[in-house]
Amino acid sequence: MTNPHAVPSDAPASAALLDRARAVTPGGVNSPVRAFRSVGGTPRFMTSARGPHLTDVDGNEYVDLVGSWGPMILGHAHPAVLDAVHTAAARGTSFGTPSENEVLLAEEIVARVDPVERVRLVSSGTEATMSAIRLARGFTGRSLVVKFAGHYHGHVDSLLVAAGSGVATLALPDSAGVPADMASETLVLPYNDVAALEAVFAERGDQVACVITEAAAGNMGAVPPAPGFTEALRRVTAEHGALLVSDEVMTGFRCSRAGWWGFEGVDAAPDLMTFGKVMGGGFPAAAFGGRADVMALLAPDGPVYQAGTLSGNPVATAAGLATLQHCDDALYGRLDEVSRTLATAADDALTAARVPHRVQHVSSMFSVFFRDGEVTDYDAARDQDTAAFGRFFHAMLDAGVYLPPSAFECWFVSGAHDDAALDRVVSALPAAARAAAG
Ligand SMILES: *Cc1c(COP(=O)(O)O)cnc(C)c1O
Repeated sequence: MTNPHAVPSDAPASAALLDRARAVTPGGVNSPVRAFRSVGGTPRFMTSARGPHLTDVDGNEYVDLVGSWGPMILGHAHPAVLDAVHTAAARGTSFGTPSENEVLLAEEIVARVDPVERVRLVSSGTEATMSAIRLARGFTGRSLVVKFAGHYHGHVDSLLVAAGSGVATLALPDSAGVPADMASETLVLPYNDVAALEAVFAERGDQVACVITEAAAGNMGAVPPAPGFTEALRRVTAEHGALLVSDEVMTGFRCSRAGWWGFEGVDAAPDLMTFGKVMGGGFPAAAFGGRADVMALLAPDGPVYQAGTLSGNPVATAAGLATLQHCDDALYGRLDEVSRTLATAADDALTAARVPHRVQHVSSMFSVFFRDGEVTDYDAARDQDTAAFGRFFHAMLDAGVYLPPSAFECWFVSGAHDDAALDRVVSALPAAARAAAG
């Protein structure tokens, strides 16, 4: 039986736009993973999105499992978000002054996430982590930053060392253009390795401004912290007067009302946290926040400078607030159900086709590693059959399912993934698993 949702492999309108884009934009894209370099083929140029679906310029419809890399937790073009955006935009799109929406969004974040007493809004996750690092250095008067291999914190110079996400997808050693003495201020450790952490702190603990960690890693695939790991980070940093920065740009407000933090205990409370993606509702809005005494060092109260022309933008904050207001227990329950259904179906299909694989979860985020065995760090995440993933990806694309075009990214579900959308994904999996088997 032929799949009624099948999509032709050639995408002439996308290919034509890609040619034009390449003439004016490096690689034809404004963020590298969108270019399909690690899976091959023509990246699809989308024209519209609604609920769980994306539609490309050739008129093909896909079930979307990228969700704009996380933000679209309610699905695309959610009516409540569109309403809030229309209302806000009609009142003016940027004031360059304080406005009420910023207060409402900040109050919502502070109410959800206990360790956050004060929060500052910015426009991207990159800005949030960059500012949190500057603040940690300003607070401690120290310069070293500890990060974990395979964690991605945006394209901040000092954090583009052994980074996940696109850096992993393109198998880049590190980024060019980061001065060696800046990179040397960053110490990279294997994830989930408490002994390595203790060793570094024993030697240089009094020079470390902060440890930054993805609350649960999602940028090398889904790799949760081992039991007790976050508590160990908290204990070791506190013993040495360093701050703990928990990056929840991806997990924040996605894994639970309070993000990954919602699953941790008080013994793991970070000093600073960063947010983005879901809290912007599909617009550029992000944030960093935490302990009031640390945040008090920010200008205009304190000496650590940080600013933004569009920070707290009234339209972006309206979209973010409307999104968070719909992120309730019912939504999180549905996301867990959808993710269990898809992860189990992927696991079954790959098992039936005898493809080595491992499915891992970070709450409702999950990913499929094309290798056997548990993945707890970046070395293991990199040790997979990316060619098999490429075949799998294209078979799914041809069946009308848009997966992240990288073996190192999580699959994102939304509240709009209804049973019809799930059926489309589930019925596409067996053939894609056979394609992966080669
Ligand atoms: C996406 C992401 C960032 C960067 O956010 P941008 O908005 O792309 O700059 C930072 N940290 C984590 C954990 C992320 O997933």
